[in-house]
Amino acid sequence: MIPGSFEYHRPASLSDAVGLLSSLGDDALLLAGGHSLIPMMKLRMALPEHLVDLQDVQSLKSVSVADGKISIGAMVTQSELIANDELHAACPIIREASLQIADPQVRNLGTMGGNVANGDPGNDMPAIMQALDATYVLVGPDGERQVAARNFYEAAYFTARKDDEILTAIRLDAPGAGHGSAYLKQKRKIGDYATAAAAVILEMSGSECASASVALTNVADTPLWAEEASAILVGSSLDDDTVRRAVEAAKAITDPATDGRGPKEFRTHIAGVMVQRAIASARSRAQ
Ligand SMILES: Cc1cc2nc3c(=O)[nH]c(=O)nc-3n(C[C@H](O)[C@H](O)[C@H](O)COP(=O)(O)OP(=O)(O)OC[C@H]3O[C@@H](n4cnc5c(N)ncnc54)[C@H](O)[C@@H]3O)c2cc1C
Repeated sequence: MIPGSFEYHRPASLSDAVGLLSSLGDDALLLAGGHSLIPMMKLRMALPEHLVDLQDVQSLKSVSVADGKISIGAMVTQSELIANDELHAACPIIREASLQIADPQVRNLGTMGGNVANGDPGNDMPAIMQALDATYVLVGPDGERQVAARNFYEAAYFTARKDDEILTAIRLDAPGAGHGSAYLKQKRKIGDYATAAAAVILEMSGSECASASVALTNVADTPLWAEEASAILVGSSLDDDTVRRAVEAAKAITDPATDGRGPKEFRTHIAGVMVQRAIASARSRAQ
């Protein structure tokens, strides 16, 4: 319950935050919504000597939706994502998923950037960003670079972000008009991380699937973009046999932990059920 002591910094601009992070080195951690970091500090699983709080950095707090391009600032909270009708119209899976993250209090503070930068395979947004083929914008002392969400996650709590980089925004192309999407999450109760969850985004052209993207949450050390399962769906009518093959391809890449959510085999099975239901739901929403 009691964190170790630390020094608190509250920069008012991105450049000040980058400067602080690089001068303080490994002893500093960024503080966003604090709803993954502070619990870890209270358990003393994280013992930073400095916290660099991003809440005054206004440039990280905006969402833009224009000309089919979406940009979400790292400090946009989950509640703000849910409330944004323009974002919902362009990319409904984000609201659908945000409503399945944590609880109202946590969503009032927890941010998009914290959720995707955290590196916990239990976080829901990373797989959704992989399904959407989003790009993460990272700013460090050497300037800006971009990393695809599909290349960002290396292992549990290990990502492509360098210690002195700040994730500033998540950018993506809005899925095509008339696309269907779904995020299906099996969990034990409100606020629990997924036993397994699946994101599906697809487009139909008549009765044929024109594009498909499937990703999985919390069934491996990292989120998983199910590339083969996605490819199997494309060009089909999403008939039972094709869906069954896609489900098997998705299950084949999982490697879940055995924990309080159940044994490995059960979680793999649930991942398959989530994929199957998410395909059906996305199909029913596609026009
Ligand atoms: C009771 C409870 C239930 C929850 N349930 C869920 C759930 O079901 N699904 C889910 O996805 N999450 C869940 N969460 C986690 C919640 O969504 C967190 O808010 C989120 O994981 C982290 O976002 P944050 O803004 O709070 O980040 P913080 O806790 O402030 O930071 C998390 C980590 O990311 C780093 N970081 C933060 N921002 C940046 C940035 N801009 N650039 C680089 N690094 C950064 C921090 O240094 C830290 O290491 C739950 C949390 C609680 C307390």
